[in-house]
Amino acid sequence: MFSNRLKSWGIVIGLIVGALIGGLFYDIVGDQVGKSPDEMTTTAAVLTWIVANIFDPMGTIFIRSLFMIVIPLVFSSLTLGVSNLGNTNTLKTMGLRVLSFYIVTTLFAILVGQILIFTVQPGVGLDQEVMSEAVARMESKVDSLAEKSSWVGKSLWPGLVETIIPKNILNEFSRTNMLAVIFVSMLFGIGIMFMKNERAASTLKDALNGITDITIMIVGWIMRLAPYAVAALMASAVFNFGWNILGKVMMYVFVVVLGYLIHFFIVYGALLKTVIKIPLGEFYRRASNIFLTAFSTSSSSGTMPVTMQTLQDKFGVPKHIVSFTIPIGVTFNMDGTALFEVVAAIFVAQVFGVEITPLGQLTLIALVLITSIGVAGVPGGSLPILMAAMAALGIPPQGIALILGVDRLLDMGRTVLNVTGDTIAALFLAKRSGVNLNQNMKNIPIS
Ligand code: ASP
Repeated sequence: MFSNRLKSWGIVIGLIVGALIGGLFYDIVGDQVGKSPDEMTTTAAVLTWIVANIFDPMGTIFIRSLFMIVIPLVFSSLTLGVSNLGNTNTLKTMGLRVLSFYIVTTLFAILVGQILIFTVQPGVGLDQEVMSEAVARMESKVDSLAEKSSWVGKSLWPGLVETIIPKNILNEFSRTNMLAVIFVSMLFGIGIMFMKNERAASTLKDALNGITDITIMIVGWIMRLAPYAVAALMASAVFNFGWNILGKVMMYVFVVVLGYLIHFFIVYGALLKTVIKIPLGEFYRRASNIFLTAFSTSSSSGTMPVTMQTLQDKFGVPKHIVSFTIPIGVTFNMDGTALFEVVAAIFVAQVFGVEITPLGQLTLIALVLITSIGVAGVPGGSLPILMAAMAALGIPPQGIALILGVDRLLDMGRTVLNVTGDTIAALFLAKRSGVNLNQNMKNIPIS
């Protein structure tokens, strides 16, 4: 009992200890972060070495182990999930239900962001010197983001066709092109539904079931590393965070974080209470591994295996629902990213004094909704898309420099929202499919 408790608190303790270590390191040598080793004092060089050679690899082991199983997990579970739906009508109904849920919750997130940014107006009157200084400091980062963002327009249309339908399945799987993986998995799943040879179909399903079970089991093993890995990831993130510029963009950070909190506790809270009807405390407690993994890795793709495992093992959501909603949700549904993009774009517009007309605002909403399909669930995945959206609205894209220094922290928060939205969508679909979640949770006690 005691050791179980300790295990579930392990990640929280790791997170706090890691943040404290990162903060302490920054406190000692923060003024030298980013300099080359020969310009540093010995203490700074040693602490930077510890972060780069001990903390960073520890975090990388954890993140890469999770990434390693994403493709086999998505392919096996989604193919199986679709084939178990039995017919294409159920697939259509479930697909439409979950997509509408994603769109509605994302629109709420955008609305929260818009209300806050227009009420607080953190960018109005910001010192232009702060802006020029940030542009100069972030020049190389902005250039590389600009290069990535140049394909965003093309990749939407007609590029989307090529992104979804692979010329060579293995190529796209090896590139982790999630849209292609989802397309192929669904196609295979529908194919199994229509197979005449029942024995072959059932053998295929057994094999896929086996792969899903093994990957979920491996997630359990990887999660044993979580307390240490989370500590290492936090220490590195806090150490490298742009504390020196935080004061200058404090109000922007405040607006984004307040938006996250409102969406996390009020919008999701209302959904859980009134639509899904499960106790809030129970939800937040059972889903805590998902939040903590997302927070420390800033990657919803990397968190996906944990999300799937938790929904099955702690909420008793049937495998076919988890397999269907989570891979699609991770790719299409990004509430936190949508909220952040709206606030960030309008913040930069306010700094530059660019007026956004009502039509411009509608365009921004549409862009955020559509482009969220193209956001990779990795740290900073939305930044190239944000730049492209800003350019489309006449907001100087290099203005992104202003927020880059503090983005790691905000990325942690938006990733938590992204994965929480996916988790709640799976619970919603389970509820609508007649699953008694409260009874399931009673049957699965957690310490
Ligand atoms: N880090 C986010 C995620 O993985 C994507 C982003 O908004 O940058 O969900």
